[in-house]
Amino acid sequence: MKKFTGKTVYKGIAMGPVLVLKKSDDLVKRSKITDADAEIARVTEAVEMSQGQLQKLYDKAVKEVGEASAAIFEVHQMMLEDDDYLDSIYNMIRTEMVNAEYAVAVTGDNFSEMFANMDDEYMKARSADIKDISNRLIRCLDGSQDADLTSAQPSVIVADDLTPSETVQMDKSKILAFVTVHGSTNSHTAILARMMNIPALIGVPMNLDELRTGMLAVVDGFQSEVIFEPEEEVKAEAEKKIKGEQEKKELLQTLKGKENRTLDGRTVDIYANIGSVSDVGYVLENDAGGIGLFRSEFLYLGRNDFPTEEEQFTAYRQVLQNMAGKKVVIRTLDIGADKQVDYFNLGKEDNPALGYRAIRICLSQPDIFKTQLRALFRAAVYGNLAVMYPMITSVEEVERIHAIVEEVCGELKEQEIPYKEPEQGIMIETPAAAMVSDDLAKVVDFFSIGTNDLTQYTLAIDRQNEKLDAFYNPHHKAILRMIKMVTDNAHAAGKWVGICGELGADVELTKEFLQIGVDELSVAPSMVLKVRQRVREIKVEE
Ligand code: PEP
Ligand code: MG
Repeated sequence: MKKFTGKTVYKGIAMGPVLVLKKSDDLVKRSKITDADAEIARVTEAVEMSQGQLQKLYDKAVKEVGEASAAIFEVHQMMLEDDDYLDSIYNMIRTEMVNAEYAVAVTGDNFSEMFANMDDEYMKARSADIKDISNRLIRCLDGSQDADLTSAQPSVIVADDLTPSETVQMDKSKILAFVTVHGSTNSHTAILARMMNIPALIGVPMNLDELRTGMLAVVDGFQSEVIFEPEEEVKAEAEKKIKGEQEKKELLQTLKGKENRTLDGRTVDIYANIGSVSDVGYVLENDAGGIGLFRSEFLYLGRNDFPTEEEQFTAYRQVLQNMAGKKVVIRTLDIGADKQVDYFNLGKEDNPALGYRAIRICLSQPDIFKTQLRALFRAAVYGNLAVMYPMITSVEEVERIHAIVEEVCGELKEQEIPYKEPEQGIMIETPAAAMVSDDLAKVVDFFSIGTNDLTQYTLAIDRQNEKLDAFYNPHHKAILRMIKMVTDNAHAAGKWVGICGELGADVELTKEFLQIGVDELSVAPSMVLKVRQRVREIKVEE
């Protein structure tokens, strides 16, 4: 039995087999071989295995997201048959007498760099595909697991770290818990874990080399502990706790259909945050009144090229139709910082959180922005849509957005494509926006306070930096005062205001938020009923 303590991201308890995810990049070591033919035979076998995996992925994707999006797996299959690529691997094994993993990694890096330097945008975008297929080959060669988990049973995912794009690609029904060595509690991976209602621990000082896929683990988010190969007593205790949690969840279910009304009659909207179309199921299951934040950038992650207008339109329309007239606030893409996408070619920055991200990309590359706006405005016809813009710092930015919106509407009208201009608001997540919220309130329809970034920028604490978790005080007076200021300014202009950062779900602050007068709280779907429970037991005027 081995026990480790970490930091809890989502309080829950789970027990099941471990699946160790190792990143191929970290693993590839150069070693000398003596039999080149045998090494080449290993590559051939790995290519076959990869082809099989890609076929399965293709079939799954066709069913889930349609043929157009699934086509990428066909492209990968073709790339794996490319003679130049394979010959380069074989040559390297023969001439340098090195192991197959190393030859694949080096060839993958060389080819991907070559593609990245091409002028043709389509070829440039293939750079990420080369990396992807090389990593898949390496995983097949060294027997480590594929992060897509297509064939795995529900497992406790153990990894060094997980990026948001890796997390978003996983089949959620196959994940019992996440346990990682690195990561910060405010990262998007952590947010995803909370959204999926999955027990998760980060900052766990375990050695992945000492863990095996298949060994049993208990993850206890309440104690911030993970126990590998637990003794019988620990297993029995965990089973009891899992049952207790289940009962509590069932009790919360009795709050479904009830109002979000305080003892003294004040009401507040409780909406949910989502990252993909399939999350709508969690929203409905937890009886949220609407969607307060759809992080649309997740549609751009985990793929090799921009989603088309049609793909986006279909996704937004589906969310709106499934929500059947309830409000859906979709945020335009907030790429950058920890949400990196190779095909955006954003380049390395010293301070990505203070860098080229979100609305800054959209205003600098209006074509990307306009495609998304067209898809959104067309989808608006199918439900109660509101659109919001991230990372705003000034009225001038909003005016530039309005000008682009006008162009988009003009074009749609001219092309006689049905559309509707939805309600449009902004995220208040920079101190600058909070300080000029009186002016901003006059030019938008609503505010949604993004406390994750607002806290990061106000306290000068990188939300990705795990060393700073102890300094990250989301209850800091500076934040609460800003929330009050922003709310007062919104109301003075007759606009509504919500909170969509993680703080919105903090039930220690629910009463204060209601006293401040916040109109809406948008929280992880798994938190909707807990926040409702809290609202129903407080008196605002006490
Ligand atoms: C926020 O910053 O609070 C927010 C909701 O946006 P994200 O967490 O996606 O940056
Ligand atoms: Mg943010």
